[in-house]
Amino acid sequence: MTVQRILIVSGTHGNEINPVWAVNQFIRKENSLNNGIDYEYIIGNPAAYEKGCRYIDVDLNRSFKESENFDKHKNSFYETNRANFLVDEFGIDGSKPCQIAIDLHTTTANMGTSIVIYGRRSKDFCLAALLQNKFGLPIYLHEKDKAQTGFLVEAWPCGLVIEIGAVAQNFYDQNIINRFSLIISSLREEIDKLKNKLIELPKELVVHVHQGSIDYPRDEKGDIDGIIHPERINQDWKMIKKGDPLFLDSQGIIHKYEWDQSIWPVFIGEVAYKEKKIAMSYTKKEVICSKKQWVQEFESF
Ligand SMILES: [Zn+2]
Repeated sequence: MTVQRILIVSGTHGNEINPVWAVNQFIRKENSLNNGIDYEYIIGNPAAYEKGCRYIDVDLNRSFKESENFDKHKNSFYETNRANFLVDEFGIDGSKPCQIAIDLHTTTANMGTSIVIYGRRSKDFCLAALLQNKFGLPIYLHEKDKAQTGFLVEAWPCGLVIEIGAVAQNFYDQNIINRFSLIISSLREEIDKLKNKLIELPKELVVHVHQGSIDYPRDEKGDIDGIIHPERINQDWKMIKKGDPLFLDSQGIIHKYEWDQSIWPVFIGEVAYKEKKIAMSYTKKEVICSKKQWVQEFESF
């Protein structure tokens, strides 16, 4: 079986409103030439979107965990039920099965347009490589983080997050909207080409592999006592080496990066991650050689 239906999700976080706007515009303009692929467009978290908040009870984009969703009828969290609904409806064994899920997010961090993938799945590599080749986009490979699991796209056989920033929560920005529109239409083109075997993968892709996260400096009560250092703010994807400043605390003391290994930070100062005690995450760079097998797997879902 090849790709027949693709799920495009916006508003997984209810206060990330630009992708919702972009998708609505896109649907209105969409031409019907789709090479036999159907697209489902859905707001991930409609109740949170309505209220302009990230979520109602818990983060929807951490709610796609099989173990927690096991007893489907007993859970009272809105997002757990919503995650179950989305999988029952659009999951690979759902009533309208989708083979690919694309989840559209914004960040308050200065990340530009980036791709996030979870783990090392061939089909995800295939799509991510094509987008990186076309636009030069950075890829954040999230893996081996026990504190953060249950991401939406992991519940589908193939899926990417598109993350665009910087933009404030609940704030419309036409430039951000335009970037989403471009990505949605390009993704559709690339998937059509893949389906029709008209594609050559680039030789390699560069990924930034998640290594961990750094919390803000805190006082003895546990309250945040430090801001991102002025030399660090907005410097996502730019290497940090030993001795570089990270934070500036209320006494004017600079907190420096003290390890020997160089790192590449992402989500610097992301507002939504304060509650997760994350001031920034950090990655290391890795080059992965493309494999023919990625395309073959893409052709056989
Ligand atoms: Zn988000």
